[in-house]
Amino acid sequence: MMSGSENSFAKGVTKVSSPVRDILDRVLEGREISKAEGVVLFRAASQSDKQAIFETADSLKQRVHGDRVTFTVNRNINFTNICYMGCKFCNFAKRSDEDGAEWQSVEQVLQRCHEAWDRGATEVCIQGGLHPKLPGSYYADLCRAIKAELPDMHLHAFSPFEIWYGASKSKKPYREFLEELKDAGLGTMPGTAAEILDTDIRKQLTKDKLSTEKWVEIVRTAHEVGIKTTSTIMYGHIDGPEHWAAHIDLLRSIQKDTGGFTEFVPLSFQHVGTALYMENPDKVRLGPSTDEIDLMHAVARIMLHGFIDNIQVSWTKLGAEHAMAMLSRGANDLGGTLMEESISRSAGADHGQEITAHELVQIVRASGRTPARRSSDYRILEVFDDHDPVRLDPLIDRNGSDPLDFLARFPDQSGKLEAAE
Ligand code: SF4
Repeated sequence: MMSGSENSFAKGVTKVSSPVRDILDRVLEGREISKAEGVVLFRAASQSDKQAIFETADSLKQRVHGDRVTFTVNRNINFTNICYMGCKFCNFAKRSDEDGAEWQSVEQVLQRCHEAWDRGATEVCIQGGLHPKLPGSYYADLCRAIKAELPDMHLHAFSPFEIWYGASKSKKPYREFLEELKDAGLGTMPGTAAEILDTDIRKQLTKDKLSTEKWVEIVRTAHEVGIKTTSTIMYGHIDGPEHWAAHIDLLRSIQKDTGGFTEFVPLSFQHVGTALYMENPDKVRLGPSTDEIDLMHAVARIMLHGFIDNIQVSWTKLGAEHAMAMLSRGANDLGGTLMEESISRSAGADHGQEITAHELVQIVRASGRTPARRSSDYRILEVFDDHDPVRLDPLIDRNGSDPLDFLARFPDQSGKLEAAE
């Protein structure tokens, strides 16, 4: 039970508007807020209101996680970028005869998995384009091939769009297709391809090929057969606060039934070179504003409190410095080391392909918090309170850039442990 002083928000924040104050008071009393109240928070305009929302999110995070911030050591593998679905926000897909079209054989994927294992990865995250020649059996075959060589590697793989595609190609119901994948060794699934779970918006983004209803059905079925998933939102294009609150509310309602979401990850829209932006430069935004990014992490923490308690910040979308700032906006997880990343990079993000475990630990320490390495299902594997991870060179050359350059501005915390050694 909290004391009155612990239960107050925004110490020192004055002039908070009544609607925002009422909502935040209810949140801190442990009550769930509605979709409409979520919209009020997303629309917060004054600095006082925003600060109160951020402090409330940070306080909720503190209640659940204390000062611990987690990450996982994983490798991202995009086995192909060949895809004909034509999603308008996508700058990753290529036609098979286009420059830059890529296909990795099973042997090449296995070689990358071994390399990841040797660098301490406990997870490989595998997603690919919907290659027209891919048989439906490919997905389970790939899982079996990896598990045969690396039985302890966690397979976090295949978006709901890929499940829709593989099941259609195999002419199997989602449940049967997912059960086969589970038997083949699939551990968890990325909850990507959610974009915004709103029919009108999806019609413009993806021609509604994977509808909201199908996304929800696949994710619910995955949870029912024992495959947990992450959950995501891609925001800052033709969407707005109503869509964001409805999206988070829908995820919350699924979670109440299935308990199958491990985390929520906000993903900022990257506009560069997308058909969505180029066809409608006057109507499509250039991604979310800094305020919107802050509010997305904070309001997600507030709306999902008690339901999805892991809010992950994507350093590939925001960069290391901005990702660190989100640790005081309600985020408690920095995602994975990734080792190689091509989806955000293709879409114009330029924040590197890997942040090593050693570097992630320095970022968390610089924020004044305690870093910990976790498993894919958020079990704590190692707390870095008195030691550092082994320092490794990045897998892919950075051409002299250093994602931690910004830490020079945090002299009190940066490298604190090393200085003491
Ligand atoms: S988002 Fe995925 S399904 Fe859509 S075009 Fe890009 S790779 Fe294909």
